[in-house]
Amino acid sequence: MSKRIIVVGAGAWGGWAAYHLQKSGCHVTLIDKNGPGNAWAGSGGKSRIIRLAYGGNNDYTNLTEESLKLWKDYDERWNESLFHQKEALWLFRGIPATYADLSVPLMKAKGYSLNQVPITGLVEKYPEINFSDITSAFIEREAGYLEANRACGVVKGKFEQLGGRYLQANVIALSKAEGRVNGVILDSGEELSADYTVLACGPWLSQLVPAIKAHIHISRQEVYYFEAPSQYAALPIWLEFRGADQMYYGIPDHFQEGFKFAYDERTWALDPTKDDRGITEEILRQMRKILANRFPALAKANVLKHHTCVYENAQDGDFIIDGIPGTKNAMMLAGSSGHGFKMGPAIGRLISDHLLEGKPIPTAFSLQRFADSCPRKSQYEVN
Ligand SMILES: Cc1cc2nc3c(=O)[nH]c(=O)nc-3n(C[C@H](O)[C@H](O)[C@H](O)COP(=O)(O)OP(=O)(O)OC[C@H]3O[C@@H](n4cnc5c(N)ncnc54)[C@H](O)[C@@H]3O)c2cc1C
Repeated sequence: MSKRIIVVGAGAWGGWAAYHLQKSGCHVTLIDKNGPGNAWAGSGGKSRIIRLAYGGNNDYTNLTEESLKLWKDYDERWNESLFHQKEALWLFRGIPATYADLSVPLMKAKGYSLNQVPITGLVEKYPEINFSDITSAFIEREAGYLEANRACGVVKGKFEQLGGRYLQANVIALSKAEGRVNGVILDSGEELSADYTVLACGPWLSQLVPAIKAHIHISRQEVYYFEAPSQYAALPIWLEFRGADQMYYGIPDHFQEGFKFAYDERTWALDPTKDDRGITEEILRQMRKILANRFPALAKANVLKHHTCVYENAQDGDFIIDGIPGTKNAMMLAGSSGHGFKMGPAIGRLISDHLLEGKPIPTAFSLQRFADSCPRKSQYEVN
């Protein structure tokens, strides 16, 4: 069956959903107000980590493994280099390595490894890193990073090559009648009609689906690029757990743009439309403290670049992929919660298989879970 589908949002999720739907024979219109992977969006910026360790979560391990294969496969088919393999060093500081321990069997079952390594060996191998307060460490060899904003542009281009229609426009409302969504209304007043509408609006979703506000909070995620000596480029990706909702990570060789360093806390709120995206001195101070502790020689490193990005967090850190309440023929892809980029290819395929063949969406992503009291946490909290 050939369906007319509108996808709003050309980030990692909407772009891949549009691509797979168009590839499966639908007539898709992909709409974005600021362009694929734009600097204000969750998919903005140059890179995203892909790692298979997922704290024993089957859904995410499956989606990530499928995505890793798809990223590699499309890189080959399209002659792009969106995926860069680089091993990841997982560090645990004074807390049990539960997240890693739970990841090991699921990864092993799929032929991947996450190996605990003795800290004494790491001290010798990586003299740039201070391991004195690290209690356990793991190496994930198959990890890497993806080119984020470039990937969104490439996917949109490939979607157009398949005959998909891309529009740069602002959607201001769903066009609804008696529970049916007939399409969308643009700020120009133009109305576009479709058989099915998919909203992948990232942090702006609540403008079109106000009910989602109760389950989503948007956080400010500042990313810093520090000047570092050239030998730092050889260091692995590192992810460091310091407590329940405290995680820091970095990509040391970041396209010759410096040592990328960011945090995973979700404590600083952000209005994605109105708030200033400049440096927050309090955040920079905190980042410097962590950096000086882990990479002592970088204690006074210059900031070469800064980017304020945005997480669209579900209250429990899990994705929300479900129908739009009160409608029959529209769905939303939401709550990517700071870990959704890597899974774009598999999520896009899932949406296409769901709409065209009825493939079920994992129940963990349904809105129904919020009917019971649902704690606010991050995806890294596995207990
Ligand atoms: C600093 C940072 C680091 C991250 N690190 C990782 C990582 O290492 N690994 C990982 O897997 N994930 C990571 N993530 C998370 C990941 O990037 C996001 O989960 C993912 O990119 C979200 O994609 P999206 O398509 O849902 O949303 P977005 O990329 O935000 O896309 C939504 C799009 O919708 C458009 N839009 C919204 N409303 C409208 C409208 N009304 N009309 C028209 N267009 C509209 C916007 O312009 C935007 O382009 C990170 C995120 C950040 C911010």
